[in-house]
Amino acid sequence: MSFQTDLRASIRSIPDYPKPGIVFHDITTLLGDARAFRRAIDELVQPWAGTKIDKVAGIEARGFILGGAVAHQLSAGFVPIRKKGKLPHATVSVAYSLEYGVDEMEMHSDAVRAGERVILIDDLIATGGTAAAAVRLLQQIGADVVAACFVIDLPDLGGAKKIEALGVPVRTLIGFDGH
Ligand code: AMP
Repeated sequence: MSFQTDLRASIRSIPDYPKPGIVFHDITTLLGDARAFRRAIDELVQPWAGTKIDKVAGIEARGFILGGAVAHQLSAGFVPIRKKGKLPHATVSVAYSLEYGVDEMEMHSDAVRAGERVILIDDLIATGGTAAAAVRLLQQIGADVVAACFVIDLPDLGGAKKIEALGVPVRTLIGFDGH
């Protein structure tokens, strides 16, 4: 079985959550399946094995679980990108639009040094708004964002193009049609 078939089968898709018309792709079932979890992490790590990655940045909250495992396997540091108000030390922040209104995400300003090679990780890219904000945050403090990596792509929403327009290559493991 290809790893894509394996991963796809381990993800639970829930129609009309959190609201009508949205299909929520729930990775808790992937995380709970030892073989699928290992496979997903191995595939996220594979392009970087043997290269120097200084830090893995994960987006709250599912990006922490995946990013932590990827960082460990690459012998890289881990950097949490969090919702506003959660980090205790001096932060840099970026505002980004949600479907209704705006939100802010933050990172400790000393979490990455200028020129460090960073990969960004989250579970899923939809419109790309969240990941684009995280890339801007990292670039703002001088990080060399070498890639943005996701388990799931919703290609109909065009998020990957938004990230590539910021000069950052995108890697995704599987795609789901629709929103
Ligand atoms: P976006 O900013 O539109 O790319 O949305 C990406 C963020 O929202 C990620 O952190 C995802 O975990 C979450 N997300 C968006 N759409 C979905 C979906 N259909 N199923 C699960 N998570 C989603």
